[in-house]
Amino acid sequence: MNRIESLALARGLRERYPLAPYTTWRIGGPARWFAEPEADELLPLLRAAREDGVRVHVLGRGSNVLVDSAGVDGLVIVTRNSLVRLERDGDRIVADAGVSLPRLAKFAAAEGFRGFEFLVGIPGTVGGAVVINAGLTVYRPRATAAVLEDVEAIDAQLVPVVRTAAEIAPGYRSTNLLGSGACVVRARFRLEEAGDPEEIHRATLEHLAERKRKQPLDRFTAGSTFKQPEGGRPAGWYIEEAGLKGTYENGARVSPKHANWIENRGDATSADVRRLMDRIVETVHARFGVTLEPEVRFVS
Ligand SMILES: Cc1cc2nc3c(=O)[nH]c(=O)nc-3n(C[C@H](O)[C@H](O)[C@H](O)COP(=O)(O)OP(=O)(O)OC[C@H]3O[C@@H](n4cnc5c(N)ncnc54)[C@H](O)[C@@H]3O)c2cc1C
Repeated sequence: MNRIESLALARGLRERYPLAPYTTWRIGGPARWFAEPEADELLPLLRAAREDGVRVHVLGRGSNVLVDSAGVDGLVIVTRNSLVRLERDGDRIVADAGVSLPRLAKFAAAEGFRGFEFLVGIPGTVGGAVVINAGLTVYRPRATAAVLEDVEAIDAQLVPVVRTAAEIAPGYRSTNLLGSGACVVRARFRLEEAGDPEEIHRATLEHLAERKRKQPLDRFTAGSTFKQPEGGRPAGWYIEEAGLKGTYENGARVSPKHANWIENRGDATSADVRRLMDRIVETVHARFGVTLEPEVRFVS
């Protein structure tokens, strides 16, 4: 028996476990191995995977990924249910990687601090938001790095490290943690702008109402499919002007409400979404000479 199999017996690891329920697109076949470890179980698990030569994928809320419908041949670690500690430490908030962003935003507001409102409508986790530098480019532009103090992670060499916000080189939907093989364990955020909880609550509700008006929040999606092209118009503008709103590939459809969002109409596969994305990229490029880049990450 290899290491990961003995851990499976000892710690309730699951085998061939369906991933679709762990993504907001509701797309994804089974993971060869699946785990929801506590913080102290992470390192032994990662070591076992390394020794066995098993690839590791970390998922938070699965709200920015397209998981292959054929499944994932590796270990998928999901943080959203087991890494969920959230507390105030003086003028900082300490949040485990699996803490949801709406929960973090509401916590900061309840403590009487502004600056986290932009996170309330983003359905991801702290880990996902930190590595992607999630945020807003419209309404009130702001990204996760603006409130991040530092992040605790296990790096690709399986060494526990602490990195400041500047050290992870945050950019537009990127940091040097993304795709590096590092696993975020928790992050610390700065409480800087004191504010009236009532007022913050009102601003938050306004922001959510604005999102509801413009975004298909009642559908299975992964938010924006493509990044905003540099210096140009928003990605959704190009897709809409290219006449692609509402077009589909089997169960995957360009949202009639917001052209940069792709909806799963119920039975979409990852191949349907990929085909639709390819069609969008080709059509927009042919029409405007603009190359759209995926914001969502592919997991296979
Ligand atoms: C309705 C909706 C609205 C959205 N609105 C926005 C928005 O306004 N702004 C925005 O930026 N995004 C938005 N998104 C996309 C998404 O919610 C964010 O990008 C979010 O930060 C992703 O977090 P997650 O936990 O779901 O990450 P996942 O989708 O699970 O993972 C995304 C990437 O992060 C990595 N990752 C996740 N957790 C960890 C960890 N602990 N350690 C290391 N790597 C990790 C994964 O390996 C993967 O590469 C939206 C999505 C939806 C469905």
